[in-house]
Amino acid sequence: MSAHDVKLFGDAVAASRLETRFAALPAPALLRLAIEGLYPGRIALVSSFGADSVVLLHMVAQIDKATPVVFVDTGQHFPETLDYRDRLIERLGLSNIVEAAPDAATLAREDPEKFLFASDPDRCCEIRKVAPLGEALEAYDAWITGRKGFQTVDRARLPLFEAEGERVKVNPLVGWNASDLIGYIKQHELPPHPLVAKGFPSIGCLPCTSRVLPGEDPRAGRWRGKTKQECGIHGVTLDAGGNI
Ligand code: SF4
Repeated sequence: MSAHDVKLFGDAVAASRLETRFAALPAPALLRLAIEGLYPGRIALVSSFGADSVVLLHMVAQIDKATPVVFVDTGQHFPETLDYRDRLIERLGLSNIVEAAPDAATLAREDPEKFLFASDPDRCCEIRKVAPLGEALEAYDAWITGRKGFQTVDRARLPLFEAEGERVKVNPLVGWNASDLIGYIKQHELPPHPLVAKGFPSIGCLPCTSRVLPGEDPRAGRWRGKTKQECGIHGVTLDAGGNI
């Protein structure tokens, strides 16, 4: 099946066909198929350089270090995340980092004090994450996410291939659990995000991420105390100027 075939059938059908055909592939083989076979030159890994990001970043680096890796610099990341990002890029030899940033004029108009997260986190995510990512992804037909099924009840239902507007999202790690991730990181002697050992199993922006207690959902520390569970990158169509 070529990338051309995928476009011919439309994304919803294409995603379903891909799922049926390739569901048994292990994650590294699935990634190679997506990067080299299905969407050569037209797929990007979107990475937050968060708690488990090193797994996919390492897999992608083994396939092609020039694969585009999109990082959205929201302006609200932990300093530890930015430092970890720089160290991983160097360690893995990644050569095509695409940095997406919020529109400066929008930030100046709507969030000059960097406190919009407190009053309207949905709008904050929209202008700091969703819009920049949507623009960055205009260059690609498909993107790779690091979502895992064990993270939340909602994510437990994720497919490997997911239609999203005119693009297909590839979720190679949906079937992985925490032990799989730890095992992969140990096997390849990869550096962990420094905040994981401090009680942060899921890491987003600094103002919206708190420690997780034993027994809690791994993403319980994200937007704690609010009904919000996702930044909006997923579950909406990321077409031009769309949202993250
Ligand atoms: S996670 Fe918080 S700080 Fe980051 S963009 Fe969303 S609301 Fe804003």
